[in-house]
Formats: sequence, structure tokens, C-alpha cells
Amino acid sequence: KPVVAVVGRPNVGKSMLVNRIIGRREAVVQDVPGVTRDRVSYDAIWNGREFVIVDTGGWAPDAKGLAAQIAEQAELAIAAADTVLFVVDASVGIQDVDEAVVQVLRRSKKPVVLAANKVDDARNEAEAAMMWNLGLGEPHPVSALHGRGSGDLLDALMEALPEAPLEADVELGGPRRVAIVGRPNVGKSSLLNKLAKQQRSVVDNVAGTTVDPVDELVEVAGTVYRFIDTAGIRRRVKEASGHEYYASLRTASAIERAEVCVVVIDAADPIADQDLRVLTMVEEAGKALVIAYNKWDLTDEERRRYLNREIEQDIRAFDWAPQVNISALTGRGVDKLSKAIEAALEGWETRISTGKLNAFLGRITAAHPHPVRGGKQSRILFGTQAHTSPPTFALFTSGQLDPGYVRFIKRRLREEFGFVGTPVHIEVRARE
Ligand code: GDP
Repeated sequence: KPVVAVVGRPNVGKSMLVNRIIGRREAVVQDVPGVTRDRVSYDAIWNGREFVIVDTGGWAPDAKGLAAQIAEQAELAIAAADTVLFVVDASVGIQDVDEAVVQVLRRSKKPVVLAANKVDDARNEAEAAMMWNLGLGEPHPVSALHGRGSGDLLDALMEALPEAPLEADVELGGPRRVAIVGRPNVGKSSLLNKLAKQQRSVVDNVAGTTVDPVDELVEVAGTVYRFIDTAGIRRRVKEASGHEYYASLRTASAIERAEVCVVVIDAADPIADQDLRVLTMVEEAGKALVIAYNKWDLTDEERRRYLNREIEQDIRAFDWAPQVNISALTGRGVDKLSKAIEAALEGWETRISTGKLNAFLGRITAAHPHPVRGGKQSRILFGTQAHTSPPTFALFTSGQLDPGYVRFIKRRLREEFGFVGTPVHIEVRARE
């Protein structure tokens, strides 16, 4: 969703205008400098077009001159925005602070819609026209108080929004792309054979799909998947001998091409660094993840107890991934893979509304503020989910965040919203 930042000096009526635009009386109406709200962004819709509106009115100012402060706030908001709604007060004319914001706007080169507020009736329209002098194009006269002109303003705003981008990461239709990865001898090709044996004839002619010769379409529990680089798995013996490097390149490229990865781990063998490396590769590539503990038929009770301890220690960082116990030899548990894959993909494509996200961030940061560093305290001003697959959140902050604090937020995000089977990425966009 495109982001609209509302900027302007205090008391021009930004918050009231935001109330008008979102059609609710949720935002705080007063522009009191120094008052920080726990929410500054809202989901809005006009003529069927969804957008996020960011109200900069309540941000706490620093101990600097007013113009510098406002310009700085504007700069942060503008950097985060696709389009800027610049609000001026037509009843008092252009002020120095307005000019300071104009300079920031010019530098940003972002599209700007100019709202001349407090034009409460037709007699004030001449005052709005004075705002042409700001050099930002046509001023749109509005009265946030009465609602006058707000429809025309929104029309102009919609025109200034960027075209809805095509989601490049969504392939239209077609089977989901799955990579089976893991260190040598964990049972990847056995698993593939087990899966493929069950349904080879069905998968040969799924309409409308072109299959790379190295890929295979395989049905698992009623769902057809495209398994990536199965040729690589099948030719394992030749490649693994003395060609570790190529094997790991192949793994990397299979992960890259997949939407979801099944990392196979040998349950009968101690968990190795190489297992963790593959898991880390999947997480870093931002792919959905399922962990399959294979060779379950070879484990006895003692081994399983020990494995649990290993999982608690080494796999803890991946405890968000669905985990299934399977035997590629007997076929035990192999059918459960489909459910796990679907759950992981669902988590991978989760979208959290900006409203929900900021309500959550407000609660979390109120209860656990960022620690003070060098006399300064970084604050999260607002957040938005920048994209899915995997869920990626942009946090706009007043300063840098400690890595530990980012991890804390991430953990709480998972507790709140689940995100089964998917890495969660956080991007911090600090004002400094
Ligand atoms: P890859 O290198 O990961 O493709 O591993 P393979 O599929 O070639 O399997 C390595 C060895 O483990 C072979 O001897 C398989 O027969 C054996 N194996 C694979 N899966 C299982 C399993 O679930 N149970 C048992 N007992 N052996 C397995």
C-alpha cells in the first residue's frame, strides 16, 4: 500500500484533516508539541484505493528551534512516504516554518499535494490562492473542521500516488516451488523417490506449466508441488565426491529458486554444523522452512531423547519452523509434509495491517521502551509491513535500535502474529 505522510507545522490542522480522511475520530485532534501518540499511522481508503496515512502531528520535538525540528520531522516522514500531503494554514498565510518544509520537500523530489486548510467558507478562497506562492503547484482549499473540499483534496492525492506495483514475487498460479535440501546422505534422494513413486503418472501433465528439466512435479497428499533441482539430488553421488563446493552452490541456487525449503536432517545421527549452515542459508534467503527429521525408523528411545536435547540447543533459533518426523524408507510421516509445507507458505505470505501492527508496537514499546544510550532514547515512531514472502517490517525510528531490541521486537511479533514456518525480517530506518 502506498504511504502518504502528512506534514506541516503545528496547529495547521493536520490531525483533524487526518480524521477527515480516515473518516473516524481516532486521531488526537490537538496538535500539542511534545505529545507523543502511540499511533501515528492509519489505513485509509478513497474510491477503492487503499493507502496508509502517516500523521506527523504528534511526534515529540527535540530541544531545537521550531523550524529545524519541523523540517527534521518532515524529512523523516517524507523519506518514508510515497506521496506527501503538505498542510498549510490559509487563514494566517505563509510562515517561515512553512518555507523550511518546502525546502525539504524540494530536495526529496517526492510528489506533493498542497492542502490549504481552514478555508471554512467560499470567502476565504482568496487566502488559499496565496499559497501558490509556495511554488508547490495548486493549493487545494479545505476545511478539516467542516469537511469542505476534502473530496477534491483526496482526488488530487489519489492522482499523486504511485501506480500499484506488480508484486514481482508472486508467480501466477502454478505449483509451489519446493527445494529438498540438506547435507549429503541425510536421505534427500530417498525422500524424493518415495514421494515421486507414489504419483509419477499424475504429475506428468499438469496443464499450463513448463517444467525445467531439472525440476519434477510431484503430488504429495493431493497437492502438486514443483520440486526444484531434483536432477541435482539424483546425481548426488557423482557430484558429492570431491565437489563439496559445487554441491553447496547447487543447494544455494535451489534455495534461491524455491518458495519453501524442506531441510532434511538425519535423526539417527548427531546434528552437525552443516545442518545448521543449511538452515541458516534458508533463513537468510528469506524462504519458508520445514524441517524433516528423517530415518526415524533407525532411532530408539534413547536417541530420540538425545535428539530432543540437541533440537532444544541447536535448532532453537528455528523453532518457528514446522518439524516432521519421517522415514523415507518406510514412508512413515511423509504425508505430513504437505500440511507442514502449506502451513509454512501461509506464514510466509501473512500480511499484518498497518493498524494492527502499530497498535502492537504501541503496546510493546510502552511496556518495554528502548534502553537509553548516551542520554538519548530511540523511539519507534511507526511501522509498516513493507512486503510479504517473507514478512518484512520497516520500523521508522528516532534513532538506531540495539540489535538485542530488534530481536526482542521480532520475538514479540512472532508471539503476537504467529509467522509459522517463515523468517521475519525487520528493517530499521533511523532518522539519524
Ligand atoms: P542424500 O544424499 O541426502 O540424497 O541421501 P540418500 O537418499 O542417498 O540416502 C543416504 C542413505 O540413507 C542411503 O543408504 C539410504 O538408503 C538411507 N536412507 C535414507 N532415508 C532413510 C530412512 O528413512 N531410513 C533408513 N533406515 N535409511 C534411510
